[in-house]
Amino acid sequence: MTDASARQTARGETAFLQTEGLTKRFGQFTALDHVDLSIERGEFHSVIGPNGAGKTTLFNLISGALQPTAGSIRLGTTDLTGLSPAERVSERLARSFQLTTVFNGLSVRENVRLAAQAEAFTEMSSVRRLLSKPSRFDDINDHTASVLEDLRLTDVAETQASNLSYGDRRRLEVGLVLATDPEVVLLDEPTAGMSSDETSETMALLDDVLTDRTVVLVEHNVDLVLRASDRITTLSNGEVIATGTPEEIASDPDVRDAYLGGYTQ
Ligand code: ADP
Ligand code: MG
Repeated sequence: MTDASARQTARGETAFLQTEGLTKRFGQFTALDHVDLSIERGEFHSVIGPNGAGKTTLFNLISGALQPTAGSIRLGTTDLTGLSPAERVSERLARSFQLTTVFNGLSVRENVRLAAQAEAFTEMSSVRRLLSKPSRFDDINDHTASVLEDLRLTDVAETQASNLSYGDRRRLEVGLVLATDPEVVLLDEPTAGMSSDETSETMALLDDVLTDRTVVLVEHNVDLVLRASDRITTLSNGEVIATGTPEEIASDPDVRDAYLGGYTQ
């Protein structure tokens, strides 16, 4: 397919993850109203906005958990709009859910390996790839070990997930996302419920382990968002009220009115 419809982002790059006119109505209520996003490959892009602004709905639409009422979503040259969540994972898009997806009865290592295997089995639908990779299970074990290492979970690798500290558990959730080796990572409030120290630590870790990937993050702590993001989109009542660099967002009067004012008072 041609890239002719791809918009240019503010820095003049071609959009990698792009939504156009993305709209979701629940009955009469419009949760998301013609949202246009253009995110570059490798960008750390945050979405902020008051409760009920439509952030989780936006994530549900991008991940395929919900179908849009109108509009489209593209990743590179692929139109994701009609694809199932599983098909989107094989397009290298992964999200971490606000609600936990960890298997409590399994160890940390088993949880990560399972996620890595799910990805490997998706790839195995290509017979040629399977035949060219006789050591697939070694690869999975190696990949699992490196994800555990990246997320500083090696020390608790054999711990049953139900016995993890809160912070370790949230990092395991990020590990499950990384295990699928996504190009695009959607994180919906990965620091929800954490203390401010844990939140800062987790954001630093995310910044570190996700450097090469395209990240779309929803996060409540505006100071951290301003520090970590390349660009930020602010949603209010289902509409984009501003997209820009942290400096632009911090000084945008509409954003201040809708959101930041309430936060800094
Ligand atoms: P945020 O994540 O920004 O807090 P959400 O995307 O969860 O906001 O919700 C946006 C709005 O859509 C809210 O008013 C919410 O009540 C409504 N909403 C979300 N999901 C549904 C649903 N399945 N049915 C009806 N209304 C919904
Ligand atoms: Mg939400």
